[in-house]
Amino acid sequence: MKHILDTSALFSMQDLPPEPMTTPGVISELRKYHDPRLRYWEDRLIVSEPSAASMERVREAAARTGDDARLSPVDMEVLALAMDQGGVILTDDYSIQNLARALGLEYRPVGLKGIREVIVWRYRCRGCGRTFDKNMPDCPICGSALRSVRSRSVEER
Ligand SMILES: [Zn+2]
Repeated sequence: MKHILDTSALFSMQDLPPEPMTTPGVISELRKYHDPRLRYWEDRLIVSEPSAASMERVREAAARTGDDARLSPVDMEVLALAMDQGGVILTDDYSIQNLARALGLEYRPVGLKGIREVIVWRYRCRGCGRTFDKNMPDCPICGSALRSVRSRSVEER
């Protein structure tokens, strides 16, 4: 299952869901806020531009529902990418959720009431800070030792 992440989702998540996708606009927003997690996540995030056709459908729907005043171009990119990819949108933005519903797109909130989170163990490199799903004798990137860390993870429905 592909997961389309908006800026609010990336801000509040401790770890990425499987098949994490986002748009170039979301990456720019995270860069603007100097989010340190971007450094660890950039390699795993699949960044993709939505099609012009989907952007147009999102714009039309936003005009119909009245969400167009509250949605940024980046928000619309997220919706259009979900339309192209057939994934689930992860967002805490009410206008994105509303328009997703109007467009028949699947979405889930990231906040406490939304997706169920589970604690999982992961392994973080003492050198470069990268995290891995499984334990290894040393970091395959820089060769430093790994230590186990608790992290939250999104449970698939
Ligand atoms: Zn390392």
